[in-house]
Amino acid sequence: MKYRTNPKNGDSISALAFGFMRLNGRSESEIAQLVAYAVESGVNYFDTAYVYPGSESALGRALAAGYRDRVKIATKLPPYQVKSRDDAERIFRAQLQRLRTGWIDYYLIHMLTSENAWRRLEALGIREWIEEKKAAGLIRNIGFSYHGGREMFRRLVDAYDWEFCMIQYNYLDELNQAGRSGLEYAASKGLPVMVMEPLRGGTLAGRMPKEAGRLLREAAGERSPAEWGLRWVWNHSEVVTALSGMNSMAMLKENVRVASEAEAGTMSERELGVLAEARDVIRACMPVPCTGCAYCMPCPAGVDIPSCFSAYNDVAIEGRLKSLIRYAVRISGHEASLCVKCGRCEPHCPQSIDIRRELAAVKRRMEGPLLRPLHAGIRSFLMLQK
Ligand code: SF4
Ligand code: SF4
Repeated sequence: MKYRTNPKNGDSISALAFGFMRLNGRSESEIAQLVAYAVESGVNYFDTAYVYPGSESALGRALAAGYRDRVKIATKLPPYQVKSRDDAERIFRAQLQRLRTGWIDYYLIHMLTSENAWRRLEALGIREWIEEKKAAGLIRNIGFSYHGGREMFRRLVDAYDWEFCMIQYNYLDELNQAGRSGLEYAASKGLPVMVMEPLRGGTLAGRMPKEAGRLLREAAGERSPAEWGLRWVWNHSEVVTALSGMNSMAMLKENVRVASEAEAGTMSERELGVLAEARDVIRACMPVPCTGCAYCMPCPAGVDIPSCFSAYNDVAIEGRLKSLIRYAVRISGHEASLCVKCGRCEPHCPQSIDIRRELAAVKRRMEGPLLRPLHAGIRSFLMLQK
């Protein structure tokens, strides 16, 4: 495992961090095995959040097997659930209990959207609350996670004496959100940058258009698309660690291997050029830049927003028939056509997707009149299977 030094406090952090957001459906024993393998392989940074269902408790149980003192725990305070200082205290206490720990190493304000959002928290006394927690050793480092544009990112970096930050960064998003300029700005201020979505919710791990996959294979057939994506992130010296949502042993082992080899500044001009070409191909094919984070959920009308967009985007990657079948099978009862256009989901979307407009497009493409017989046929087939 390669380690990178946190420029603020000298912590030695594994280049690969374990993101605990995408472990839904894994049993407790599978999670325990993944965590044990990760820690024994040198992964020492685990990221979760109050709002990831079951995630903090699962991580707490897995680390209770003697691993707590060998790792840094990062978790997050959801600002939209904080209407008073007491709310922050209540949530923090619950987090310590779920995580079975007496302190949080890296504590983030989750998805901080604007300077005003931070000022609102300050007006509630959160700055003093954080300082008390830090003085008591309950919070070791305070930071924020961010999905907005680059100008606001700079303002947020300057709004408080943060000790780290977390941004979405991958070769598809080099110029999106905080992007490369944000990464460089934070680093210029001595602020450690943790990276989330290095493979953009799996899109860069293989669910990509055939033409992009072909470009990567021809350049280095032995490398998987995930390895290409992770190497690109670790090629940046400003990145302290990259979170990967590893939900299988095969994925974990591959990522550990790559994290043990990849060094900053070692990708060649040719390799970077190949990734730039693959990026252009992927961008041209994806109608909706959804990462599947599910922050927009639940929808009061029952729409499964991320699954609708995933099936819609996959038309370009898997072909129309396969995507239509997936849409009809997996999204049955949660289709785009259920959207009543209330707009409640949109403020929560870190990608600023016009969800109502895009769901209307999904409806046209995936539920048009000619497709109704296909949907009805699949539903009848599924009923017979029950
Ligand atoms: S706008 Fe549509 S998808 Fe969004 S919350 Fe309302 S009903 Fe659900
Ligand atoms: S629509 Fe936005 S909030 Fe919802 S899953 Fe996609 S990226 Fe996340």
